Amino acid sequence: MAFLKFEDIDKSFGENNVISKFNLEVEKGKFIVLLGPSGCGKSTLLRMIAGLEKIDNGKILLENNLLNDLLPSKRQIAMVFQSYALYPHMNVFQNISFGLKSEKISKNDIKDKVIEAAKILKIDELLERRPKELSGGQRQRVAIGRAITRNPKLFLFDEPLSNLDAALRSEMRVEISKLHKKLKSTIVYVTHDQIEAMTLADKIVIMNKGKIEQFGSPDEIYDNPNNIFVAEFIGNPKMNIFKIKIEDIINRNTFKLFNKEIKFENVIFEKEFYVGIRPEHISLENKSEFAVDINVDLIENLGSEKIIYSHLNNAEIRIKSTQNIKDKNITIYFQKNKLYLFDNNKNRLKS
Ligand code: ADP
Ligand code: MG
Repeated sequence: MAFLKFEDIDKSFGENNVISKFNLEVEKGKFIVLLGPSGCGKSTLLRMIAGLEKIDNGKILLENNLLNDLLPSKRQIAMVFQSYALYPHMNVFQNISFGLKSEKISKNDIKDKVIEAAKILKIDELLERRPKELSGGQRQRVAIGRAITRNPKLFLFDEPLSNLDAALRSEMRVEISKLHKKLKSTIVYVTHDQIEAMTLADKIVIMNKGKIEQFGSPDEIYDNPNNIFVAEFIGNPKMNIFKIKIEDIINRNTFKLFNKEIKFENVIFEKEFYVGIRPEHISLENKSEFAVDINVDLIENLGSEKIIYSHLNNAEIRIKSTQNIKDKNITIYFQKNKLYLFDNNKNRLKS
């Protein structure tokens, strides 16, 4: 049985259809990340789970209980917002304990819960401070602390790290991952950041315009993207995509890419289609039959890795390498078993 279940969810704002026929089942204890470009409906979906937004059609069920018409306070769900949503006039203790006061819990129990959460989040030294006396990362921990003390069935996180600088973001990413392992809670986490999604998620939902493009583990999504949207969304720099025109198709099994013939025994090429290869699967040293000479346009030095930008026949080429490149003219090698094929609708052609 699914712990959290979405059945045919629809949501519009006026004429703007934001979520359509959304179906998903989440298992208990899993860390689910909703990943997609800005405006694709991630926050709207989260707000519908929390009860902050009305559902037009469909059902959301938590442990088989229909959430649709339950008040937000009755859902046993805690949400952590990007903006932290702390009360400026309250100190850290008061902010964390805020949600508990309305429940019938003794003062001592509240104190124990707050201290326990504060210890987990390493803010137990800061309980007397006001939000303005805290760093961004500390404020975010307070917001998470407030969620933890409510002991919810489900945690919702809406881009909780996007207001933090890069170093803090990666630190908090690790903290949140540890927190999940410790609490074994079910989490639905929204982000537009593929690194957060890849590092945190048990399973990722790739969303585009209110629909699911793919639902799978980080490895499944990286290794077996359903379509070009997913293939380009995961991986940095993004996958190289080359269009194969009718005139490049030599026979039903063979086509030409950069004047090299490539044969796939189990695929039939009839219409134009696309070939993809990740920048990390084009090599400068591992020689293959598929060798192409290119001119280097630009090299981005990331320290341990270089990103080489080039182009050939109007196609941009991106290569990831650890090699130091001195020459302007280099030979690159494609690994044939790392090529992805997509049909003319941009869906994956299985080979
Ligand atoms: P995301 O979180 O993926 O960036 P949102 O769920 O915030 O996207 O928004 C999805 C779409 O719904 C956007 O086009 C946005 O403008 C619209 N939208 C969100 N909330 C409202 C609202 N309260 N009223 C009208 N339109 C909204
Ligand atoms: Mg959002």
